[in-house]
Amino acid sequence: AVVTRFAPSPTGFLHIGGARTALFNWLFARHHGGKFLLRIEDTDRVRSTQDAIDKILDSMRWLELDWDGETVFQFARADRHADVANQLLAEGNAYKCFATAEELEAMRAEQRANKQPQRYDGRWRDRDPGEAPEGAPYVIRIKAPIDGETVIDDRVQGAVTVRNSELDDFVLLRSDGTPTYMLAVVVDDHDMGVTHVIRGDDHLNNAFRQLAVIRAMGWAEPVYAHVPLIHGNDGAKMSKRHGATGVEAYRDELGVLPEALSNYLLRLGWGHGDAEIISREQATEWFDLGGVGRSPSRFDLKKLENLNGHYIREADDARLVQATRPHVEVLLGRALDADELALLAAAMPSLKPRAKSLVELAQGAAFLFDKRPLSLDEKASALLMGDARTLLGKTREAIGAVPEWTVPALEEAVRRVAEDAGIGLGKVAQPLRAALTGRSTSPGIFDVLVLLGRDESLGRLDDSLT
Ligand code: GLU
Repeated sequence: AVVTRFAPSPTGFLHIGGARTALFNWLFARHHGGKFLLRIEDTDRVRSTQDAIDKILDSMRWLELDWDGETVFQFARADRHADVANQLLAEGNAYKCFATAEELEAMRAEQRANKQPQRYDGRWRDRDPGEAPEGAPYVIRIKAPIDGETVIDDRVQGAVTVRNSELDDFVLLRSDGTPTYMLAVVVDDHDMGVTHVIRGDDHLNNAFRQLAVIRAMGWAEPVYAHVPLIHGNDGAKMSKRHGATGVEAYRDELGVLPEALSNYLLRLGWGHGDAEIISREQATEWFDLGGVGRSPSRFDLKKLENLNGHYIREADDARLVQATRPHVEVLLGRALDADELALLAAAMPSLKPRAKSLVELAQGAAFLFDKRPLSLDEKASALLMGDARTLLGKTREAIGAVPEWTVPALEEAVRRVAEDAGIGLGKVAQPLRAALTGRSTSPGIFDVLVLLGRDESLGRLDDSLT
């Protein structure tokens, strides 16, 4: 059975690249009816924090990337990692290295001077440990193969070959008895029964080292799939200067729906024909490693926004109200009361067709909650200059006389104003919109009138006319 895993290092928020890795692992496992496991790689005790763990798990839940079984914490397994290092030592597949820090520095300086690659030269590989001084500190190093080459048949990168002479005898266990990352990953993947390692291609080089441990232990080799990293629009690896890189920023600052981000990340690096809008169910049915592209994909915010607009239009209104509420409250700097929430719900059908994010949705809704007299933005003020005020006065009179405050009745009244003045409806609607919303864009003007209600609408028009 297929077992995949996501293995984030908890040193910050969940990066969108990490989210995509998690998604690919999730989809691959679900597609095959296997398991998707989560391992927190918290061995860096200085940089790993509980806050980062909470944020990563929170973002995964938000993206509905549920994992199977208990979360594995790598640091807690240090004894097991050390046991494996000692087993490798006992079986002659690893050795004690007593080289001091100064000695190693001198070795590297010489390599630099000779323009040789920086690597441990194996000086203790065949030496008798008895030659070391009594009680001298040592590290345990893997006895990596020297001759021949190692080939990884990567499901994304194809066959990748490295000459074994390029791989050095890296450290498994430090002199203080703590395991290195390279050892911990391999032991954990084995113990968790991981069959497929799907991760960023920045780990491809590590895979060759990790294989040396796997082979020395005689363990089953996982299938590797190293996915190209996400790049920014300039082709460089995605980083802060290209925009937000954290999942939570897309949720909180841009107002992206989880299914939109998930769909976007899926398409970023994986394809199935020319399908763009792909539901989670469909993705689970289709997902395969053959569809993962070999070259880095470029992050395109416009595309994400367009997808988000699509999912906003598809989303249930009640859910959108809940999701938009915090963004409205940030804009207004206060909480919405029950009446205002009902108003937001009533407005949702006219607000959502135009919004590409929940923030835009909130901006579009804000006019509903502004208090009189409104402060008009620059464009709205311009729309109320000169003749427009006369026109607005006539419109005020016409709609003030409408007996029933409904879209058809209001529309008829406003149309008559336009006809009498011999101008288009838009010309009348523009100053009306400016006075009613304080803005130059809004949902349809008759919807605006109905949503605001008679008293508030006429009040806002009177404010503009005095
Ligand atoms: N903890 C590593 C990272 O966050 C992932 C290691 C792996 O997937 O093997 O980059």
